[in-house]
Amino acid sequence: MNKMKFTYDAYRKLLLTFKNNGYQDIFYQEADMTKKQVILRHDIDNSIEDALKIAEIEKEVGMKSTYFVLIGTEFYNLFTKRSKEMIEKIIAYGHSVQLHFDVTNYDISSKEDLIQMIEKEMRILEMITKQPVHVVSFHRPLREYFNETISNSFISAYDKQFFSDFKYVSDSRRNWKDDPYEAVANGYRHIQCLTHAFWYDERERTAHDKIALFKTKCADKTQEALYQNITDLDELIK
Ligand SMILES: [Zn+2]
Repeated sequence: MNKMKFTYDAYRKLLLTFKNNGYQDIFYQEADMTKKQVILRHDIDNSIEDALKIAEIEKEVGMKSTYFVLIGTEFYNLFTKRSKEMIEKIIAYGHSVQLHFDVTNYDISSKEDLIQMIEKEMRILEMITKQPVHVVSFHRPLREYFNETISNSFISAYDKQFFSDFKYVSDSRRNWKDDPYEAVANGYRHIQCLTHAFWYDERERTAHDKIALFKTKCADKTQEALYQNITDLDELIK
């Protein structure tokens, strides 16, 4: 059904479609059901570099969005200088950086536990962003989080307001479940549009190629870090 390509040009075109159809680009706390609004959301599952590229495109088009970052992931480390500089840039472009929460990092037995862990990660993220963190999106969310107000002290991107009252469209697993163009054509006045920067590129690549490229990049990064952290590495391993 959806023919939208996973390219930067295609994403730019989607942004312009929202813009030209009168959607106001908003952060979660600015939701107003009397207006026509779009929330641009990005879950950063794999790479902050890829997110930065999308953030630049949005800045060029003049739209703001919300980037959700993981605290505990094997794929990137928010505490490195490089990561912090990229996060700073995303914020300087006018976007918001909020919490992507992976529940599998914890043994959570109650809703109170869940709330406590989310709030803890929010405070950690604030140390990095130096901005208030008050929105959470769940990484690989459990169904029980859908349409649920988790807490009154922060916003969940899966709250009923954003998951049902807003039309929810997403390119999860590099596959649009609901077509954002159709949502616009069908006259939805509120859209939450989730994209994963990881899948996009200058030219369209298959999921297979994108994953292969990412694995190579990760290996290169590990190699670079080894050389930075072990003096005379070549000498040592020869
Ligand atoms: Zn995720």
